[in-house]
Amino acid sequence: MRATLFLLLLIIHISGNAQDLAFGKKMVDTLSSSAFWGRGYTKDGMKKAANFLASQFKEYKLLPLNGNDYFQHYTFSINTFPGKMSVRINDRLLVPGRDYIVAGSSKGMNASGTLIQSDSIHFIDKNENLIVKLSDKLTMGISQTLGDFSIVEVKKNSLQDIPQSYSIQIENKYLKKFNANNICAYVEGIERPDSFIFITAHYDHLGGLGSEVFFPGANDNASGVALLMNLARYYAKNPQKYSIGFILFSGEEAGLVGSKYFTENPLISLGRIRFLINTDLAGTGIDGITVVNASEFPKELTMMKAVNDSMGLLKVINSRGKAANSDHYFFTESGVPSFFFYTLGGVSYYHDVFDRSETLPLNEHEDLFKLIIGFNEKLMGQ
Ligand SMILES: [Zn+2]
Repeated sequence: MRATLFLLLLIIHISGNAQDLAFGKKMVDTLSSSAFWGRGYTKDGMKKAANFLASQFKEYKLLPLNGNDYFQHYTFSINTFPGKMSVRINDRLLVPGRDYIVAGSSKGMNASGTLIQSDSIHFIDKNENLIVKLSDKLTMGISQTLGDFSIVEVKKNSLQDIPQSYSIQIENKYLKKFNANNICAYVEGIERPDSFIFITAHYDHLGGLGSEVFFPGANDNASGVALLMNLARYYAKNPQKYSIGFILFSGEEAGLVGSKYFTENPLISLGRIRFLINTDLAGTGIDGITVVNASEFPKELTMMKAVNDSMGLLKVINSRGKAANSDHYFFTESGVPSFFFYTLGGVSYYHDVFDRSETLPLNEHEDLFKLIIGFNEKLMGQ
């Protein structure tokens, strides 16, 4: 009887699903558009995204976690590629992002010359500290350090012959103190405002590769941000027994910098967090989700699976152990119980220029929304 009533209340709570999906889709479109330039380090992309997201929190009437604005400011070093980005190999002009990427730590360069083969995939010009590497797949990363080499990774099938000659202009700018913000808000609890459940997602991505090309990061992690924003909107209208906190982290792609900073400088005592749910890569899901930390918190996993089964949401919830692969990690290490889930199946674009909103299905956006609300009710009900 109680269970039936619980379910009934849940169903009443969660209405307007089509609207939720439309909201999520629009949010992913917006965040992965060129206006935010890959939510990174050039063209003020991350800063513009932060201002937009904070204005959304304000519109939903969430409270700032630090008491006055939504921002938690900090700095870190990062190597960036703001300007000229031109790579010509064997007289063929290559397209940044599609034909090649550069390693995040690469130094800038402006030179032409000859390449010497060092093994089956590496071609080198020692005079210029240039390494050209052939790859089957391009996966971009960014770096907090500046290296001594320019490393250009070229997609194998973008060239007809092995690399022999080159003409390369790469402009880099190493920023010693890049200004970043985590965006932190909450909805105050009705009965136990000192107890918190947190929902977190990183809003940063890889930024741009030169002045013409950016990484949209639709799945990584506009999808998770869209889910978080949808939940923020819901909880603002439906306050719970506990306070519900929301953190949008920056610096994730640079090495979990923002979430590490938060755990070292928490805006509330970490001991007050009953549970933290981190979402990253939430844009597919036809093959279900994987939950990181599942084996660390078996009781909570059982609760989540019970919600999933009773409501018939995701195809499967896979379990995984601890992993330092997203922003939950430093919370777990600081003693905060947490899950990180990511969706499975469908498109697999990752850290490349093809991770776009247009091809991201958002199959399980609504089901994940329901799953988290149901799971949180269980967490607060026990
Ligand atoms: Zn991510």
